[in-house]
Amino acid sequence: MFIGHFAVGFASKRAAPRASLGVLMAAPLFLDLLWPIFLIAGIESVRIDPGNTAFTPLDLHDYPWSHSLATSVAWSLIVAALFWAATRYGRGAVVVAVGVFSHFVLDFVTHRPDMPLYPGSPTSVGLGLWNSREGTMAVEVTMFVVGVAMYARATRAINKRGAFALWSLVVFLVLFYAGNAFGPPPPSVDVIKYGGLTGWLFVPWAWWIDRNREMRAAPAAAPARTGEGMTAS
Ligand SMILES: [Zn+2]
Repeated sequence: MFIGHFAVGFASKRAAPRASLGVLMAAPLFLDLLWPIFLIAGIESVRIDPGNTAFTPLDLHDYPWSHSLATSVAWSLIVAALFWAATRYGRGAVVVAVGVFSHFVLDFVTHRPDMPLYPGSPTSVGLGLWNSREGTMAVEVTMFVVGVAMYARATRAINKRGAFALWSLVVFLVLFYAGNAFGPPPPSVDVIKYGGLTGWLFVPWAWWIDRNREMRAAPAAAPARTGEGMTAS
């Protein structure tokens, strides 16, 4: 799954308004942020195998540290603990934990059974939505539209950058996704490894969006009465 993970990031702003979208986006992307690093380090590997499923030309046969069930739970606890230590924002930490783990859940739905339960596990799981290109795109595009709409309704731009930063990311992701879905397979594993690192760019990009938008005000409270708060003389 690709843009579906972004949908989770956008949607989670409403659940944790005081957390930056940069963090809220990094959480559901986190396993895929680790993956190219682990590929480069040589502790995970990938093969290019056009037709592996209808949607992806990748044979994801070896990614137990970034994408197994057990390590996904561990990453979600670690990232949430770091976030809590830095911010003491408990609600945000819960949303971050759920966000990181949501990556496993969404990949479980889309990948063929190639996600191990733990490193070294003989059992791998996956429901294989990727066997249907139309099914994959229907689910992911719907999620993306809902997630972006939730974010756009929950926040408003405080300047022109606030609109530009958001909508340029949305357009970029749609084009990138279309390129993935309809374009040729990547030319080499190196392109996957080093190209995958560009995923990290989405973290400062989302942070930049957040800096230039604010939560829309809740429905106005009753105006304060004159004299309230004055101390007796
Ligand atoms: Zn993934």
